Amino acid sequence: MGEKNWMKKVIFFSDLNKLHEALKYFDITSFSGKKIPIKLHMGEIKNKYFPRYQDVKLVVDELIKVGADPFFTDTTVAYSGLRNSKSGYLKVAKLHGFNKKKTGCDAIIDDTGIIISVKGRDYEVADQINNASHIFAFTHVKGHIATGMGGSIKNFGMGGVTKETKRRMHHGSRPIYLKDACTYCGLCDEACPFNAISVGENTWEQDMRKCFGCGVCVNACKSNAMKYKDADFQYVLACAAKACVQDKNVIYINEVKRIARSCDCDPFAGPVICPDIGYLVSDDPVAIDKASLDLIHDVKPDVFEKVNKINPFKQIKYGEEIGLGSSSYELIKL
Ligand code: SF4
Ligand code: SF4
Repeated sequence: MGEKNWMKKVIFFSDLNKLHEALKYFDITSFSGKKIPIKLHMGEIKNKYFPRYQDVKLVVDELIKVGADPFFTDTTVAYSGLRNSKSGYLKVAKLHGFNKKKTGCDAIIDDTGIIISVKGRDYEVADQINNASHIFAFTHVKGHIATGMGGSIKNFGMGGVTKETKRRMHHGSRPIYLKDACTYCGLCDEACPFNAISVGENTWEQDMRKCFGCGVCVNACKSNAMKYKDADFQYVLACAAKACVQDKNVIYINEVKRIARSCDCDPFAGPVICPDIGYLVSDDPVAIDKASLDLIHDVKPDVFEKVNKINPFKQIKYGEEIGLGSSSYELIKL
């Protein structure tokens, strides 16, 4: 078998009008005759970078062309605000153009789901995702405060599960401090992106109100004086994504444009930290996120590490380890 036969195809193009050509590389005709969730983040109020309904409508049109019946879907969030409830999120979706009048599609927001276990942990997968055999994922790639970058893995790993599971994942990735092993070197203090740790000559303090459970401090400590309460956030993120998409036929598009420092949930996500790259399509969430990261790093080396102080490649490594997908890909430019 030649090397390229086991590499995942990732199609790269800069003009979204080439979407039709890109989709020919994948099994889009099998979407025919089915209700198809288009999984996407429909934007937070005041955020300026989330997917544009005009762009997502091109996906809707392609799905309708093959005889599918698409609808938009996402899940409620764990923090306060309009998107905390189904009715509130639907208001935001409508405001941002994700409605029948502007796109030909309705939006369904989920707040409940079904428990699916991956690697010994339970994840509550949202109903619309769980019920579908075929899914189209539209992901806006951007920076993220807890994962460095957010792409297709995060679109499902956090966006595809219920708020109870979101809360548990964040909580479980907070650090536990082991005082007896601490040398008060201060590395965790220096590394924490949120100034949640203060180390003095013989003192160590943490402000849990500031902690996002990103795990940077656990990685920084060389003395085994910190460990995760449960597991690394990027590990459970990859596992939750697998709970959502395993045994399903999923086509992913990553929009690698308007790459802001922080995610589409953040009203103050800017500034933009990298020039626009274009669009990628694949049927593998690990391959498409790896290709997106590689293209970004070609233009802006280590940009997410520098801006968010977090290595975004961990989710790729974990995703490959648990069988979510492959980091080996063949990039086909249109
Ligand atoms: S998990 Fe992240 S936010 Fe929390 S203390 Fe450690 S480095 Fe800071
Ligand atoms: S990095 Fe580890 S050893 Fe150093 S101060 Fe922090 S917890 Fe203690």
